[in-house]
Amino acid sequence: MDSKNLYNRRQAIGGIGVGLASLMVNPAFSASSAGATAGSTAGADAGAGLEDPVSKYPKPPFKEQSQPWPGLAAKMEPRPDHGEASYKGSNRLAGRKALITGGDSGMGRAAAIAYAREGADVAINYLPAEEEDAKEVVELIKKAGRKAVAIPGDLREEAFCQKMVAEAVRQLGGLDILVNNAARQQTQKSILDITSEAFDATMKTNIYAPFWTVKAALPHLKPGAVIIATSSEQATDPSAELYDYAQTKAATTSYVKSLAKQLAEKGIRVNGVAPGPIWTPLQVSGGATMEKLKNFGGDTPFKRPGQPVELASIYVQLAASDGSYATGQIYGASGGNGQP
Ligand code: NAD
Ligand code: MG
Repeated sequence: MDSKNLYNRRQAIGGIGVGLASLMVNPAFSASSAGATAGSTAGADAGAGLEDPVSKYPKPPFKEQSQPWPGLAAKMEPRPDHGEASYKGSNRLAGRKALITGGDSGMGRAAAIAYAREGADVAINYLPAEEEDAKEVVELIKKAGRKAVAIPGDLREEAFCQKMVAEAVRQLGGLDILVNNAARQQTQKSILDITSEAFDATMKTNIYAPFWTVKAALPHLKPGAVIIATSSEQATDPSAELYDYAQTKAATTSYVKSLAKQLAEKGIRVNGVAPGPIWTPLQVSGGATMEKLKNFGGDTPFKRPGQPVELASIYVQLAASDGSYATGQIYGASGGNGQP
């Protein structure tokens, strides 16, 4: 089934929402028909039959595009699918309190939407330049009937990481899901082109910030709480042009495994997600060369990039109480490549 037919079929089922959701979803994925509220289509489709993962989402070649860092999902073509019109919750995280860094776009936004629809209150952190994306996420969380807390600020500062956690705890009334998802990725052909400042910014964002954030959060985490890190297939299969970024992802995978052992006796689980190529602002704002971007995901067995929504249920599963024996694990989603 080609993607056009898939959308028509969804439209026929009548499951795509109106208003905000129809504005926000990639027009290619959405149908503007009146119908049920956002978040009701996946179930309808799943119930109706199978979806072919090969033809489900756009494939390369992609249009040339670049944005100044950190980039906005709102300006990408095609717009990424974070589950705005499709993620359907089933109360798996009822009453939980989550803080997600980088919650404005990409995997963080997909997790934020899913968590809210699963019944959690959600605080998102992002950079002030990403307010436009963040506003959409806040609206979606509220639309799911949950509390949304927006905490803009730069994670490269320890004081901000501490303030962010304190603010999340204060406004949510506690914290039991921490998702360390924000990251910096800037592609450079040669190690000689990586300045000490750029190297430092990558280390601060990807390694120091989770360290500072976990330290600030730990006193608030009770047995049953979870920490989830976004790692990458780069942790185990680093690209030549991601010398600095790839090693931070190896560090992420490592801290997940170390911290899981350390925090087991407290009843706190620590797991990670290792995505392959996913269509997010990080890639169009310096994360990939134009050459790589045009064929993004084309070298995976599925011959397309993943969409953030395709990882949403992984973040849910790692947070949910019924997955209680999983800790120190890295869960991959990379279209057939990579072995986390
Ligand atoms: P994204 O651009 O949507 O998300 C990254 C977020 O990081 C940004 O939205 C921004 O809010 C945040 N961020 C960056 N620097 C920050 C700073 N100094 N202070 C505060 N926030 C900051 O892209 P994404 O691809 O969804 O990235 C999410 C995670 O997924 C990252 O950890 C990334 O390494 C990982 N990942 C992405 C891919 C991919 O192909 N997109 C693949 C593997 C892993
Ligand atoms: Mg963003």
